[in-house]
Amino acid sequence: MRYIEDVVTLELDVDRCNGCRMCLRVCPHAVFQMSGKRAVLHDRGACMECGACARNCEQGAIRVRAGVGCAAGVLAGLVGGSEPSCGCSVDKPSGCC
Ligand code: SF4
Ligand code: SF4
Repeated sequence: MRYIEDVVTLELDVDRCNGCRMCLRVCPHAVFQMSGKRAVLHDRGACMECGACARNCEQGAIRVRAGVGCAAGVLAGLVGGSEPSCGCSVDKPSGCC
């Protein structure tokens, strides 16, 4: 599953990265790769904003607004067994979901 590239909130400050590779291990969508001794965003558009990388980066090199938007709604539905919804279409007949 991919999301629209330009709406992903994921940001990586390469200057802070110490090359520990933790983000590569925890990311379920292989968004990161190593380039030399540092991580780089290999496939930013594959990010589903789960927040695992930012939570596990001890250098604080990664920022992402986790738990918001449609991706979070889909995940909550999958985990909770309910109909996936982020609520963005509530009160909006032409909502995006
Ligand atoms: S978890 Fe943080 S410090 Fe470690 S490789 Fe990824 S960006 Fe770099
Ligand atoms: S927020 Fe989740 S999907 Fe996006 S880059 Fe981080 S670990 Fe990967």
